[in-house]
Amino acid sequence: VDQKHIRNFSIIAHIDHGKSTLADRILEITDTVQNREMKEQLLDSMELERERGITIKLNAVQLNYRAKDGETYLLHLIDTPGHVDFTYEVSRSLAACEGAVLVVDAAQGIEAQTLANVYLALDNDLEILPVINKIDLPSAQPDLVKQEIENVIGLPADEAPLISAKSGLHVEDVLEQIIKQVPAPHGDASAPLQALVFDSLYDAYRGVIAYVRIKEGEVKIGDKIRFMATGAEYEVLELGVHTPKEVKKNILHCGEVGWIAASIKSVKDVRVGDTITFAERPAAEPLSGYRQLNPMVYCGLYPIDSAKYNDLRDALEKLQLNDASLHFEAETSQALGFGFRCGFLGLLHMDVIQERIEREYNIDLIATAPSVVYHAYLTDGSMTLVDNPSMLPDVSKIDHIEEPFVKASIMSPTEYIGPIMELCQNKRGFYKDMVYLDDTRVNIIYELPLGEIVYDFFDKLKSCTRGYASLDYELIGYQPNKLVKMDILLNSDIVDALSTIVHRDFAYHRGKAICEKLKKLIPRQQFEIPVQAAINGKIIARSDIKALRKNVLAKCYGGDISRKKKLLEKQKEGKKRMKSVGSVEVPQEAFMAVLSMD
Ligand code: GDP
Ligand code: MG
Repeated sequence: VDQKHIRNFSIIAHIDHGKSTLADRILEITDTVQNREMKEQLLDSMELERERGITIKLNAVQLNYRAKDGETYLLHLIDTPGHVDFTYEVSRSLAACEGAVLVVDAAQGIEAQTLANVYLALDNDLEILPVINKIDLPSAQPDLVKQEIENVIGLPADEAPLISAKSGLHVEDVLEQIIKQVPAPHGDASAPLQALVFDSLYDAYRGVIAYVRIKEGEVKIGDKIRFMATGAEYEVLELGVHTPKEVKKNILHCGEVGWIAASIKSVKDVRVGDTITFAERPAAEPLSGYRQLNPMVYCGLYPIDSAKYNDLRDALEKLQLNDASLHFEAETSQALGFGFRCGFLGLLHMDVIQERIEREYNIDLIATAPSVVYHAYLTDGSMTLVDNPSMLPDVSKIDHIEEPFVKASIMSPTEYIGPIMELCQNKRGFYKDMVYLDDTRVNIIYELPLGEIVYDFFDKLKSCTRGYASLDYELIGYQPNKLVKMDILLNSDIVDALSTIVHRDFAYHRGKAICEKLKKLIPRQQFEIPVQAAINGKIIARSDIKALRKNVLAKCYGGDISRKKKLLEKQKEGKKRMKSVGSVEVPQEAFMAVLSMD
């Protein structure tokens, strides 16, 4: 292939605006996927993606398109997730492309992540092609949305194709615009190899597979390659592309996007963002790679079966292969034993990693309540980072505590301005600005404690705006506040995994709610269990779990064996998720009880 006939592009959009559906249509139009193999959101191949209807992982596909100019082009399409927690996936996809198709829902208009993704594309110097989708909907307002794109983003939208990704209407126009407007790659095929590793995964048989964009030079089977950041050297055993089926090739040309396997057994040798070059004729410098993202929330992950501790480490290492935003280090909890403190970009990210560990690696987990990172300033003038509330130094040593603040951008129809402002006020927010996107929609800017956003902000925002508001946020710094550690005691013992850091003014209310919730979640046992919330050793709330009186099986009158079996099975099912904390059996949900209580 001649580089002039290659186009590399991503599809970016706010969640649910139709990226994956557009990718489906493009695969169909280009005959990449036969009709009988077609299914909706084909590229969302992970089980979890299909169940939840969201894209979590980026996906790269090679396709051939015969354009109206009579020439055949080689396109690489990278589908990306839209949720704020997966921005990291998006930024990695974009670094492998020259253009981005920006999909905007004709009925919804620009949302918070539409803007966030545009900024990412601009950071990567990409050509941005706006496309207005879902024009088949009766509520579609394509002209208004065009206006928004021009006014808010500042991109000309006159030429934007008006499409229905669902029916396929005008999708071909999108392909024609990609050919005409997205620049072809311009690497030097004879230069020393520079391949950007934008993703990787672990294959049990072939080791680590690196997904690459060839920026300079080309790579063949048998070539000796070096990962520039880690210095690891290997011989290329296999390479190829996805269509989306895996197709093996003998060579990856300059400008192409594909995969490389080299029997790499050590996951540490491959870092996403690294540059692959030749071992013998190396490039002078690596490509610029990616910005390191720091986790926003932390939680403890503990295997229910403590024998699975090493398996859990292994699973985390493999997941980290293509997710550098996932952090972890070993920690021990008095209540839960040996586990890992893990850092995530947000709650959805945390949830997804947890589920992937359980499904893909078969390890049942207990997750502790998520926490942000606090700065504890001590009386001796030093400062410690606290990502685990139970590790907060003793109050007598603390001068003051600072918490992370974010700048939040909330886009919504104007009729919800009132409820949104009330919510932000209740979450200790500071009003900053309000910008009208058009006559009916606004962008409201608040500064809020990240801890409150992690808590239940997003759910509350969705419910007070009937799902119409969208949220994006970025960390802006730390601010001091009246923060205290609240401990939870079960049967008079502090359960370290249930400690949280709360604002003093909210402590009493939250302590009471947690005690009530735990009372509901923890099954009755042979003895009465007091549940207490305490600050600095002083009890501020209490509820009691009454002792068990009846034997459940007594109800079965001995005769009905199958019913008895069922009951026992049900109890076992419940037990699976239990962890003994001292003398008390505590279910998984209890550790999340400190979140969203009302
Ligand atoms: P993504 O989150 O951006 O990948 O969005 P999806 O492609 O998963 O689409 C989200 C929802 O919008 C799905 O239920 C699609 O069926 C629907 N959808 C996508 N494109 C269209 C369209 O052109 N018209 C209509 N009516 N619905 C669409
Ligand atoms: Mg999708």
